[in-house]
Amino acid sequence: MKVLYVCAELYPFLKTGGLADVSAGLPPALKEVGCEVRLLLPAYPAITKVARTLQSVAPLPQSPSPWGPPPALPPADLVLATLPDVDMAVYLLRAPTLYARPGSPYLGPDGRDWSDNALRFCALGWAAATLGQGLDPEWVPDVIHGHDWHVGLAPAYTRAFADAGCDTPATVFTIHNLAYQGLFPSTVFPQLGLPASFFSIAGLEYFGQLSFMKAALQYADRITTVSPSYAREILTTPHGFGLDGLLRERAPALSGILNGVDYQVWNPATDPLLPRNYDGDTLPGKAAAKHTLQTRFGLEPRADALVFGVVSRLTEQKGLHLLPQVMAELVQHGGQLAVLGQGDAVLEQAFAEAAMRYPQHVGVCIGYDETSAHTVLAGADVILVPSAFEPCGLTQLYGLRYGTLPLVRRVGGLADTVVDCALENLDAGTATGFVFEELSAQGLLRALQRAFALARRPQEWVAVQKHGMTLRFDWQTAARHYLALYRSLRPHASSFTGPYSGSSSDAHQPDFSV
Ligand code: ADP
Repeated sequence: MKVLYVCAELYPFLKTGGLADVSAGLPPALKEVGCEVRLLLPAYPAITKVARTLQSVAPLPQSPSPWGPPPALPPADLVLATLPDVDMAVYLLRAPTLYARPGSPYLGPDGRDWSDNALRFCALGWAAATLGQGLDPEWVPDVIHGHDWHVGLAPAYTRAFADAGCDTPATVFTIHNLAYQGLFPSTVFPQLGLPASFFSIAGLEYFGQLSFMKAALQYADRITTVSPSYAREILTTPHGFGLDGLLRERAPALSGILNGVDYQVWNPATDPLLPRNYDGDTLPGKAAAKHTLQTRFGLEPRADALVFGVVSRLTEQKGLHLLPQVMAELVQHGGQLAVLGQGDAVLEQAFAEAAMRYPQHVGVCIGYDETSAHTVLAGADVILVPSAFEPCGLTQLYGLRYGTLPLVRRVGGLADTVVDCALENLDAGTATGFVFEELSAQGLLRALQRAFALARRPQEWVAVQKHGMTLRFDWQTAARHYLALYRSLRPHASSFTGPYSGSSSDAHQPDFSV
């Protein structure tokens, strides 16, 4: 089963959120369960500076497609490369005028979307779809698996090839966050080189604009999202971001597959970023991490203070606007708060003010920093994820592994992965954290109070910690679900036979012949 995994971020080279972690964790697991996986990524500077080019593959096709002119793209080509510690071949889409820009993969230095994002990600979709048409005759995928709106056009082009009578791979599209949809003015449409009929309500037209996310939801053979609860939630108006109607239509093709954790990176027993390694049977080692966290975030180094941590993009989605509203109570109970994050200026300001108001109780680090993320996840007693919505969420899973109890809202992947410390769950030994329902300061406050209450029962706290630390949300389980999905679409695709042993399957056209 040859799987082309197409994404815009890859940890540790380029990361804005969980998408990058998934791109690092899922492909190796797919390989382990027998898929032959290759990645396709734009050749961003962060990637090219570490890549070793193996061979040039082909220029991106500029000749007319079977239905009309190709996308209006600048010169671009594909190379096959390797990346450090990435044990599979990677196609890099080289188009310097589109991608040779440092920093965020999506935003300019002013924090705004690049004005040519439609073309930047049109190129990625076109590259994926043309690889599906034999652009690399040595390796033709059975399945194109795209992630988030950046790859939304891959299923659209693939469908256009199929409509034109070409043999095509199956397409799978994973929604990591429906809130980001890739909306562009309709004037861009002629540049995309799609059939004119695709600009319609049954295509990628969205209230007079273009939606790359909608393109994927419309044309992918299967749609997945990153937790079973989120898969159900996005069928409803409050969580559907205007696409719930279409998703309800496509419900038979939609499923939720929970993300996994890369326990090579997130393991307190081996984590090189911790002052002292620890595990369930050496929990006192966690105290060293707590001390480091308190020192680094300017908190009073008190072993008995209950430390709440946040590692997050600071956006409306994450529900963090509730935190400043409960800060007084948190501090009054003797709690401390360490916030690592960046994003929304209003939230950044609110946390900076809280740190000034409650010195030694509230420490804030505005920015993005891997080492500090590990420090918070290991050093805090509780990791806070009070999200308004959460497709899967990874930080609560990291918290579980580090003996840092997650305090979460019952939504999306948070609902699927954290069990509240209600008495019956404590009794049954299933409790792993604190879960609240209502997106309000009151709701959050009650969960905080439960955390303080459990902290006064240290034996029970440790039992909960230890149970959470034994749980595994591994990528192999997720990979087996994805493989079953691929097989349902391409039952006759063969298994992996060895690195670089792929040759064009008979079922596909050997060359890009349009
Ligand atoms: P999302 O993808 O919505 O941002 P997830 O919980 O799925 O949320 O993934 C967030 C990932 O980004 C985690 O790996 C988390 O540790 C990391 N992260 C978020 N903010 C920061 C930050 N300021 N510094 C370092 N890592 C961060």
